[in-house]
Amino acid sequence: MNPKIYYDIKNKYPDVRIIAVSKYTSDENIKTLFSLGHKEFAENKVQDLLRKKEEISKEISWHFIGNLQKNKINNLIKSKPSLWQSCTDFTLANEVNKRLNYKLDCLLQINSSCEVNKSGINTQQALDEYLKIKNECNNLNLIGFMCIGAIDKNYTQKSFEDCYKIYDKAKKYGAKICSMGMSSDYELAIKCGSNMIRLGTILFK
Ligand SMILES: *Cc1c(COP(=O)(O)O)cnc(C)c1O
Repeated sequence: MNPKIYYDIKNKYPDVRIIAVSKYTSDENIKTLFSLGHKEFAENKVQDLLRKKEEISKEISWHFIGNLQKNKINNLIKSKPSLWQSCTDFTLANEVNKRLNYKLDCLLQINSSCEVNKSGINTQQALDEYLKIKNECNNLNLIGFMCIGAIDKNYTQKSFEDCYKIYDKAKKYGAKICSMGMSSDYELAIKCGSNMIRLGTILFK
């Protein structure tokens, strides 16, 4: 864990929320960053989120950023994440919504890189899907979008810009969070309007 890099990024971008992605790091490193005052972490497996929430600290806000299989929905709900960033479409939103017994903040994941192996709604449908979830899933509090930048460097910027455009249109429908940018591309993502970055490798290497 590298506190200097964490502070450098935090000071350089005071208006951007840093989410520490702890999926590949040790519990010790999570505790170190938490002891420095950092409170927002993310996991991509429901069972890891449940365990870490139980064992590390109840004061940490955990985000869920992974693919959600249907048979893990009940555990996701049980884990009470502070933000579910990876809602991929209305069908999944509806499944979660039906079983929720509290209000869950969430983001719609957009596949703005158009890469076939990535999950998320395509850019053409994203705003309609956002509004449909917003109108029909009353236990979900949909407050923005998440995307993963295109791996092909020639298209990374475009994928962020496309996601930002949708976010910008959805601002009048309550969108407040545009979650884009990981260790390799967070600076570009911020230039394109991101206000939430998800950093793993760069913080914990
Ligand atoms: C793993 C992961 C990250 C963090 O990736 P790094 O390259 O380690 O910063 C961010 N977002 C999602 C959705 C992830 O799965």
